[in-house]
Amino acid sequence: MSVVVCSWGNTVERGTEEVLTAARAYSVAAGLPLRWVVAGTDCEAVRGLAARYGVAAVDLISHPKLAGYGPDALTEALARYFAQVQAAAVLLNQTAESRLVAPRLATRLGGAVVTNVFALRHEGGALHVSATAYGGDTHATYRMPAKNSIVCVATTTLAAEHAAAPTEPQCNPVDVDLGAVEERFKVTAAPKAEGPRLEDAEIIVGGGRGLGKADNLGLIRDLAAALGGMWGGSRLLVDDGWIDASRQIGLTGKITRPRLYVAAGISGASQHMAGCSAAKTIVAINKDRDAAIFRYARFGIVGDCLEVIPELIKAARGG
Ligand SMILES: Cc1cc2nc3c(=O)[nH]c(=O)nc-3n(C[C@H](O)[C@H](O)[C@H](O)COP(=O)(O)OP(=O)(O)OC[C@H]3O[C@@H](n4cnc5c(N)ncnc54)[C@H](O)[C@@H]3O)c2cc1C
Repeated sequence: MSVVVCSWGNTVERGTEEVLTAARAYSVAAGLPLRWVVAGTDCEAVRGLAARYGVAAVDLISHPKLAGYGPDALTEALARYFAQVQAAAVLLNQTAESRLVAPRLATRLGGAVVTNVFALRHEGGALHVSATAYGGDTHATYRMPAKNSIVCVATTTLAAEHAAAPTEPQCNPVDVDLGAVEERFKVTAAPKAEGPRLEDAEIIVGGGRGLGKADNLGLIRDLAAALGGMWGGSRLLVDDGWIDASRQIGLTGKITRPRLYVAAGISGASQHMAGCSAAKTIVAINKDRDAAIFRYARFGIVGDCLEVIPELIKAARGG
């Protein structure tokens, strides 16, 4: 039995190191070896990282049908891999892609799947996972079966930490037959990605309904520009047509983890916080001193954001 981290592609996606850290901690607690299975072509791209995170072995599944992301081919490849490698727990970095693969894989393996997981622990000889539910309003803990427990880890609140002693993982090529697999859905037009992504921004200014009207969004834009960051907003601004959905932060929008998040006129609903609570520092401006956002904020300004933001812009511009 092993603890296995699954990933795909030849670039290491954001969040993977946090998953490796959580997987290592669990593998040590459960006394099981840690493996990393990668569907890709380049083992050298991951071997160094695997060593730093204490991985015992890297298994590389290469196949032309895995060249681009395709959930059917990936599921088939992983199902065949797990017929050879017995896994107690299988951890995936939770992304839009892995959300399509994890439940299918669990069904194929006759295992169980839990998404939105933020903590794993070994207790009474079993894996217990804690996950958010109902849009982040509730935390649920599940006792998982002894075999093929598929866990999608939401990494925004986790930290990556190298192993105390690096390992020397070998790369094991794994042959799988994907001859009969065809993707059932074809992407005919991918969304255009233009410019930097909110998910990668180091500094974000978020605006909420407390801005009063769409015209006041200029304040958010100017503050973001003065701080050298990007801007976004709450879902209500999208619903009201003030901003484009690509700028929505939260559970059903962008999940961000900036160094600094300035929340202006935002109440701090759990669904919004799901997209920004991993920020290192949150600064909140709200005229209601009891607003939920202040529970998350390191610095809070009780006041009218229409008066406070111009002062912050002046200060950020150096005068
Ligand atoms: C399934 C589901 C998914 C959701 N997904 C998301 C999501 O991805 N992202 C998201 O943001 N929301 C999401 N929501 C909505 C979420 O529950 C909240 O309704 C929303 O985040 C509230 O937006 P807000 O804080 O801008 O507005 P409000 O809740 O109306 O809060 C406005 C705040 O501004 C303050 N304020 C008012 N005037 C001023 C002023 N002049 N100066 C300073 N402060 C002022 C008020 O005190 C208040 O706290 C989701 C909801 C559901 C049910």
